[in-house]
Amino acid sequence: GELEVRVHHPSKDEVGSLGTAINDLAEDLKQYRDARRAFLADISHELRTPVTYIKGYSHILKEKLYDQKEEEDAYLTILSDEAERLNRLVEELFDLAQMDDGHMKLTKKHLALAPMLERIVKGFALPARQQGLELDIDVEEGLIVYGDELRLEQVFMNLMTNALRYTEKGSISIRGGRNSAHQPVITVTDTGIGIPQKELPFIFDRFYRVDKSRSREGGGTGLGLAIVKQLMHAHDGDIQVSSVPGEGTSFILTFARPEKNAQ
Ligand code: ADP
Repeated sequence: GELEVRVHHPSKDEVGSLGTAINDLAEDLKQYRDARRAFLADISHELRTPVTYIKGYSHILKEKLYDQKEEEDAYLTILSDEAERLNRLVEELFDLAQMDDGHMKLTKKHLALAPMLERIVKGFALPARQQGLELDIDVEEGLIVYGDELRLEQVFMNLMTNALRYTEKGSISIRGGRNSAHQPVITVTDTGIGIPQKELPFIFDRFYRVDKSRSREGGGTGLGLAIVKQLMHAHDGDIQVSSVPGEGTSFILTFARPEKNAQ
């Protein structure tokens, strides 16, 4: 049962503009439904892929349909990778669902960004070194935001994970300061593969990826940036991106000013 509302009224009087308003509303509703339908189709597709792998390879292992020990190891690795992917998908979908119906509980307090970011960057030191990437951080001391610590960590971890995933050589740098409106601003910049201009409007959409196989190989789910954007909005903040293919990408996070009395 789809609701189809169309009101035809040619005049420019009040009834006419009411008609226009209803038509606009019906169009919004239709777009919302189409988006939801597409999202549900994407979810089942995305969940089906790891499930198919898990079923296939556990069958091979159970029936011992291989003759070398190395094959067994390779299949076990695929099994655990795909189980891990499935787990991540479920966790991330759960986060998005909670945010969609406004049920995500945020425990906000005043947080100092510099120590938080330094801690997070330290956590990426080993994988960065293994990839031959430099990490550098310069965040103004005393930069405070009002937010949920774990959720903001999730924001920065997602951006750092992407920066590593999409950068082959060079560096990842984190900068923190204030803009002219005195709002805290954090930028995460990499010297990676970049994003074509025409793809930029879509990268915050759920399951949107510029290069599907590259994302998958790096363990991506296509949900990271959608979650980052939602979490920033839940913190009255915003996220912007600028990128040059072949040169690198910058994500710019702007936070609300914390209450004066807390600084
Ligand atoms: P994924 O799990 O695929 O990384 P995200 O939602 O985190 O999903 O990002 C969506 C897409 O945006 C990625 O698939 C990738 O194409 C692009 N992207 C995100 N971050 C970067 C980056 N730092 N450099 C280049 N491309 C990026």
